Amino acid sequence: MRLDLDEVTAAYGSTVVLRDISLSVPEGQVVALLGANGAGKTSLLKIVSGLLRPRRGRVLIDGEELSTVPSDARARLGVCHITEGRSIFPHLTVGDNIRLFAPKRASPGAVEGALDRFPALRPCLPRPAGSLSGGQQQMLALVRAYLSEAPLVLFDEISMGLAPVVVDEIFEFLAGLRRAGRSLLVVEQYIPKALALADVVYILAKGRLVYAGEPAELSGSAEIMDHYFNAAESRRPREGISR
Ligand code: ATP
Repeated sequence: MRLDLDEVTAAYGSTVVLRDISLSVPEGQVVALLGANGAGKTSLLKIVSGLLRPRRGRVLIDGEELSTVPSDARARLGVCHITEGRSIFPHLTVGDNIRLFAPKRASPGAVEGALDRFPALRPCLPRPAGSLSGGQQQMLALVRAYLSEAPLVLFDEISMGLAPVVVDEIFEFLAGLRRAGRSLLVVEQYIPKALALADVVYILAKGRLVYAGEPAELSGSAEIMDHYFNAAESRRPREGISR
């Protein structure tokens, strides 16, 4: 599935948060969307999944305009949005969460396939989801992306606050989705990992795209990254380029 945003502008009330954004996720590719706090990354993902309507511009999926199609209909068309924070049911068991995520048309082996992606969840099936560690809860949330079989998946800071070993597992999961031919739009704070995975990278600063290109151009260039992120953060002195 291919995604195109064509000159999208978006606002909350009178506050414009995205300006003239044109961006593409080609079929089967991984696109990383980077930017400082408040740059507009979450808002951009919401525009794609239909949680926020553009003021101007168009959202196109496989060339068809969906700008006014509601989010539930977009989900049925194959857009899966894994939002920041964990969208799980904490009082239900892990097993029941997984059964709820599985679409009716899911094959009998689908749940097993999902658990193969995150074997750490297998012994937890009878436990309430809320009793899992943060990393396990995130893995459970990601099972939804796997089971949905959605050809376009949007990930919003899914590795935030997790232990490095879990982050590695999550990036391996993303690489697996890509090998399966799914198109991914990934907002990430682990910039080197995002650059290693992505085919294309965009940088947002204060609601505008300030860079679009190949990750290899950025990987070796802390200066470029620092420039863009400083620009986005009101020239506040910064340490490193963590975000
Ligand atoms: P972060 O990394 O902190 O999540 P972000 O790049 O995802 O940041 P957004 O969450 O899209 O950025 O926010 C962009 C701007 O829109 C910010 O200035 C934010 O304060 C503002 N904003 C976000 N959500 C709302 C809302 N529901 N109502 C009003 N303003 C909002």
